[in-house]
Amino acid sequence: PSSPDPEEPAVATHCPYCALQCGTRLQPGAPPGPPPPSAVPAAPAAEPAPPLRVEPDADFPVNQGGLCHKGWTAPAVLRAPDRLRTPLVRDRAGGHAPASWDTALHTVASRLAEIRAAHGPDSVAVFGGGGLTNEKAYLLGKFARVALGTRMIDYNGRFCMSSAAAAGVAAFGLDRGLPFPVTDLAEADTVLLAGANPAETMPPLMRHLNKAGALVVIDPRRTPTAERAALHLAPAPGTDLALALGLLHIAVTEGRHDEEYVRTRSVGFRAAWRRAAGWWPERVELLTGVPASAQREAVRLLSEARRAYVLTGRGAEQHSKGTDTVAAFVNFALALGLPGRPGSGYGCLTGQGNGQGGREHGQKADQLPGYRHITDPGARAHVAGVWGVDPDSLPGPGLSAAELLGALGTDGGPRALLVFGSNPVVSAPDAERVQRRLAELDLLVVADFVPSETATMADVVLPVTQWAEEEGTLTNLEGRVLRRRRALAPPPGVRGDLAVLRELAVRLGEPADRFPDDPRRVFDELRRASHGGTADYGGISYERLDAGEALHWPCPATPDGTPPHPGTPRLFLDRFAHPDGKARFQNVDHREPADARDDRFPLWATTGRQLAHYQSGAQTRRVPELVRAAPETTVEIHPDTAARAGLAEGELARVRSARGAVLARVRLVATLRTDTVFLPFHFPGHGRANLLTGTALDPRSRMPEFKVSAVSVEPVGSE
Ligand code: SF4
Repeated sequence: PSSPDPEEPAVATHCPYCALQCGTRLQPGAPPGPPPPSAVPAAPAAEPAPPLRVEPDADFPVNQGGLCHKGWTAPAVLRAPDRLRTPLVRDRAGGHAPASWDTALHTVASRLAEIRAAHGPDSVAVFGGGGLTNEKAYLLGKFARVALGTRMIDYNGRFCMSSAAAAGVAAFGLDRGLPFPVTDLAEADTVLLAGANPAETMPPLMRHLNKAGALVVIDPRRTPTAERAALHLAPAPGTDLALALGLLHIAVTEGRHDEEYVRTRSVGFRAAWRRAAGWWPERVELLTGVPASAQREAVRLLSEARRAYVLTGRGAEQHSKGTDTVAAFVNFALALGLPGRPGSGYGCLTGQGNGQGGREHGQKADQLPGYRHITDPGARAHVAGVWGVDPDSLPGPGLSAAELLGALGTDGGPRALLVFGSNPVVSAPDAERVQRRLAELDLLVVADFVPSETATMADVVLPVTQWAEEEGTLTNLEGRVLRRRRALAPPPGVRGDLAVLRELAVRLGEPADRFPDDPRRVFDELRRASHGGTADYGGISYERLDAGEALHWPCPATPDGTPPHPGTPRLFLDRFAHPDGKARFQNVDHREPADARDDRFPLWATTGRQLAHYQSGAQTRRVPELVRAAPETTVEIHPDTAARAGLAEGELARVRSARGAVLARVRLVATLRTDTVFLPFHFPGHGRANLLTGTALDPRSRMPEFKVSAVSVEPVGSE
């Protein structure tokens, strides 16, 4: 491997993890200490990756010189001792044997062709990720629809913010996580955070929120974010929709809503209000446990603020009614006249690194590039023109992520799956079922840079580059397009995902020109494909980004000889994206979670993230400092609940649901509700929190119900 030249200037890029996409500068220099062998899985002999030192970029407005633990330690993943450096093909003994790229790609392409020929194009499926660059997400969607001709593509972003996306499209005609720059939050008088814990999940965001006047936090847990709030409302899991209806009720009955805004900038208020009229504060208190006085105080803090924001996170979104829950919070924000008002608004705190861009470029089951629906004849014709194919040859919408994973290996379901940038064995709901379904496949192919739990099940593993080894773009939670830059040559034997897709496409009979592997060329094509869509990247180029321009989509191309479009940091100031320019109140009501508590499963389990880890943990569980900080699955439980179950701090508990059981270390948390336990979802094996979660889906977004599962808790050893 080539070592970085110490004379080289620092490379400006962004953190590989969450949607904040903190700006970083990478320089030659050893990151702190090599990992102790005991802290990581057994590794094949491999030379360490060239070292890099990460520094926060003080000039990047989002993080302003801040990074969280994950960002500081990210270079360690580049030198993970078990970094994949050669393709692996399953051998007759059931293990993995190293193979040449030629052998591995030939194996994949020939097996895909056989399976397609025997069972049809939809027998081959693709599963992408919200951490893939825009270029990878775009080419993956094109590969699925053109080279494989399959409807069966979706991605793990379905598990992330899809409910907020569905609610945002319905309300505003367009979904961009934050329709304003993150820095605007610092000017707010009040910010309501519904189901978001940025103090742990995106700590640098707190730089902005700490400058805001008051935080109101809605979360069943007293999280580090809630600790800093002026007001913390802790509803029972699964009741936040009713709480949002109650906030709207109070705003209207106390005359705190903005009647003129409602009349001039929105439609649908009456129907939404009729629903909320039935949710008076005392009724909401009975269901949610949030005192009526606290509900009124929340409305007062929001409505008396000159500048106020309502933000949702996964806590509001990951429900079988997640879209309606977000819609209820949007209704409340609309009643107060916040969206589209300078210095105020509604936004979703997107989670994954490219959660925003990942949902715009066509790796979603129902979408084509430009964030357009795949059934839209105009979009199909336009994209087919860019791809040089017949619009009628493009497949229609496929199955959403959980449905796709559930169909694998079943009669009539996909027989082969290609996974890029995801680890569904840990991150998907009802994880045991997903594991069983993967085991039924005729062919499982995983492209990754470490042997994730999903990769270890694969028939073929393709070792690919990671963040500091590649060029590309990502789009952060504020719709700002960012450049990822290469600071290191990848280890020998590793290839970029674009090159892998190109090689496979060619072996499947596609012309090489149709699948460029140069990110700049892919981006140029993506720009053209996005033309006319809501997420229009037409005017964005590597040159403009490299010149330091801050470009938020939509940023359409402009005619030759005219100035380039400046991008759109703030949306909706004059009009919303519906044809009449008005926002839509949505007529939504509370409904119960899919699970019900009973004598067998008397508690609610809710899941989420910890400061030390990211998503399925495939990356952060390979960073010794992070493993030391959070080595295993814990279950947070109120001391009274633990005592009733016969559990003490530090003991191993078994948490059971109707789907399965998890082993977790007990953490007593006196501020937690007595009816609720919390588990982080970053850990593998018997510690997988998603062994508990179910596959009840939101009917609009197809989001699984990660946040509410009926469970029991018991000491290990008791049956
Ligand atoms: Fe990386 Fe997110 Fe942490 Fe920033 S907040 S350093 S983007 S993980």
